[in-house]
Amino acid sequence: MALRKEKLETYRELLNSRREALVQGLRVATQAAVADEVTYADSIDQASADTDRVLAMKMKSRERDQILQIDEALRRIEQGRFGECERCGEPISEARLKAFVLSTLCIDCKAELESEEHRFPGRA
Ligand SMILES: [Zn+2]
Repeated sequence: MALRKEKLETYRELLNSRREALVQGLRVATQAAVADEVTYADSIDQASADTDRVLAMKMKSRERDQILQIDEALRRIEQGRFGECERCGEPISEARLKAFVLSTLCIDCKAELESEEHRFPGRA
C-alpha cells in the first residue's frame, strides 16, 4: 500500500530541507578546514589542528552518508517505493517514518535483522 500523495510531498519537503541543511553544513566545515590550514601552518598548534581536521573529516563523511541516504529516499519517493519495507515489502508504520524518515525496514524486519546481527556479530 503506497502512501498518499500529500504525505509523500510532506516527506519530500522534509528530506529536501534536511539535505539542504547538510550540504550547507558540509560547505561550512570545508571552509573551516581550509581556514585552519592557513592559520595553523608552522604553528605548535599543528597537532591539535590535525585532530580537529580528522574530526571534521569524520563528521563530513557521516554527513555525506546521510546525504546519500536522503538521495536514496528521494529516489524511492520518485519510484513510489517510499514507506515500503525493502525486505518484506510491507508498509513501514507512519510512526516509525515520522521518528526516522530514512528507515527502509519495517519494525519487524529491523528487529529480526538486529537479532541476526546479535547472533552473527560483524555481519551487516
Ligand atoms: Zn519488513
